[in-house]
Amino acid sequence: MIAQVIVNSSAQELNRIFDYKIPEGYTIGENIDIGYRVLVSFANYKSLEIGYIIGFKETSAFKCKTISKVCDRAFDEKKFELAKLMARRYFCNLSDVLRLLVPPGTSNKIDKINIKYERWVRLTKKYLDYLQGHVEEIKNYKIRSQKHQKVIDFLLDNKEIPIAVLTDFVDVGAPVIKALENKEICESFKMEVLRNPFLNKIVKRTSKLELTKEQENVMNQVEIGKYCEYLLYGVTGSGKTEVYLQIIEKVLDSGKNAIVLVPEISLTPQITDRFLARFGRVIAILHSKLSPGERYDEWRRIQSGEVRIVVGARSALFAPIKDVGIIIIDEEHDSSYKSETTPKYDARDVAREIVKKENAPLVLGSATPDIKSFYRAKQGEIKLLELPNRISSQGMPDVKIIDLREELASGNKSMFSRFLYDEIKKNLENKEQTILFLNRRGYSTFIMCRDCGYVVKCEKCDVAMTYHLTKNKLLCHYCGAEKQNVSICPECGSQNIRYFGTGTQKIEAQINKMFPDASVIRMDIDTTQKKNAHEIILNKFRDEKIDILLGTQMITKGHDFSNVTLVGVLAADSSLNIGDYRASERTFQLLTQVCGRSGRGDKKGRAVIQTYLPDDFSIQMAKESNYLRFYENEIKVREKLNYPPFCDIMVAVISRGKWAKSSRRCKAIFQNF
Ligand code: ADP
Ligand code: ZN
Ligand code: ZN
Repeated sequence: MIAQVIVNSSAQELNRIFDYKIPEGYTIGENIDIGYRVLVSFANYKSLEIGYIIGFKETSAFKCKTISKVCDRAFDEKKFELAKLMARRYFCNLSDVLRLLVPPGTSNKIDKINIKYERWVRLTKKYLDYLQGHVEEIKNYKIRSQKHQKVIDFLLDNKEIPIAVLTDFVDVGAPVIKALENKEICESFKMEVLRNPFLNKIVKRTSKLELTKEQENVMNQVEIGKYCEYLLYGVTGSGKTEVYLQIIEKVLDSGKNAIVLVPEISLTPQITDRFLARFGRVIAILHSKLSPGERYDEWRRIQSGEVRIVVGARSALFAPIKDVGIIIIDEEHDSSYKSETTPKYDARDVAREIVKKENAPLVLGSATPDIKSFYRAKQGEIKLLELPNRISSQGMPDVKIIDLREELASGNKSMFSRFLYDEIKKNLENKEQTILFLNRRGYSTFIMCRDCGYVVKCEKCDVAMTYHLTKNKLLCHYCGAEKQNVSICPECGSQNIRYFGTGTQKIEAQINKMFPDASVIRMDIDTTQKKNAHEIILNKFRDEKIDILLGTQMITKGHDFSNVTLVGVLAADSSLNIGDYRASERTFQLLTQVCGRSGRGDKKGRAVIQTYLPDDFSIQMAKESNYLRFYENEIKVREKLNYPPFCDIMVAVISRGKWAKSSRRCKAIFQNF
């Protein structure tokens, strides 16, 4: 028999099937199958290459070599079908997709799989037989030392145990064990250990809450055991997560398993804690901040079947979990669900393909759904579920918009309006906590007049132009138009032109000066480089009752702190000018999410949005937390300008060594459309 093999390479020339003979001793369906990884010698390469078996046939038209080594099984036929679909849809090599399906860290070094071992010890079978009288007296087995006897007694009780634990418990040194080994009374052996990322984590178990009528209603509409796509639109704090937990419980009871995607999971330890607290160790967590070894171990726990729920970032879709009974995508509007590296896929589309095959529901949840998803719901392609009210009787926070132009006119040049200053002071006096959000996307890249709020935009595309320092020019990232940089506002003639972006560090210093007695903790790219840094900062904020949490985008997501009653947005505008047709959508989402961090407990929340563009529709709607009106307006704009969902935008990057070559290639592609 011949195995059809795909070689693990991104080179386009190798994106095809190669034939290899199956070695002696291997039978299809037993120890070799579709999805096995193999090592093969390839062309005149010196080292062996990794390949994936994707099929079999009787004979080959070529004189082919034999597979050098059969390794582990990385995926099954279902996953392979998915991979084929993705390779077609996302224009990439099959091996680029297959790489997602293998255990993390092993796609390029199959022989050096990162397994951690411990030495364990147990009594020998011979000695146990002897104790039971099956074997005649052996002189070695006479025990004179009390220490030896203690070890033996302990092993009789505990059977197998790590040497380190044994020596600790019985209080003997390693030489004692060695001596017993020499007498063939006990034997030590290598035991694989799974690194456990939760090892030092204490999580209190929770039981399910009694659902509100609204939650109950949503629960009842989600049918398990059947393919259907749902969009759960629920305001911040409306109890979406509790609904997820209970639907999953239902799925587990039906014998199936669940996948939950959360955005940038390392930023949101709280949500994983909630899953852990409800379901315990049947959960596996996969995210980028785990060490490669930890990730690999989680992967193997999933493979072993002990895991029922995988919680993770988008790549968790490819975890080897069987019988998927539901996929939930939380904060479905989040941009991290689109992969920007090869293969460039949208997790929501891939999830849909998976649940279709598994006859299972797909639940997309958000307080601020992607315009495209909501449009699909309106068109009847997705079933819309709603949680319009907060669980807390205090309702949504009161939001006030502050016009920074007026502040400036009255001589206040700081980043804090007088109103926000007073509110922070009030919170400090009441011992309530404050979150300050600095919208830093588009850092220093766009230019705005501080007197009238004018932003230089591309006339054709109506998006903000991006400032390029190296050229000292403004560029439109859509059509490539260039403009001279401005130093005087073309609208009002003011010279108060500002390059946008103020660092968090600078603001922290300002806060320290304004409120010398307040404790401040900062969360941004600088303070979160270390592993678990997010979690440490957030725990500190919660447990040590730090007065002010100051941060960038990463503080906007998914946190639930009951003592936070004030959220301040220092400058709302920077995401309005990111040079993207989704700028309004992003701004609305960001502001709604961040304001939604306020007043989640039993105290009423407040939020202050500082802006140079107080009349902007996305800011106004975020103030009202009115997604529906925002949507109605935005969808009209999209239709008029023919932006998605009324068209698809595709970016094709063509790179060749020489300009002439790439230009020719571009033309060829262009003519094909
Ligand atoms: P969301 O995911 O929509 O932001 P959460 O599920 O975090 O909302 O719920 C907000 C808060 O309300 C949480 O503190 C949660 O424990 C609480 N909560 C949710 N559902 C209920 C319920 N049925 N009864 C009581 N408290 C609830
Ligand atoms: Zn343009
Ligand atoms: Zn101006």
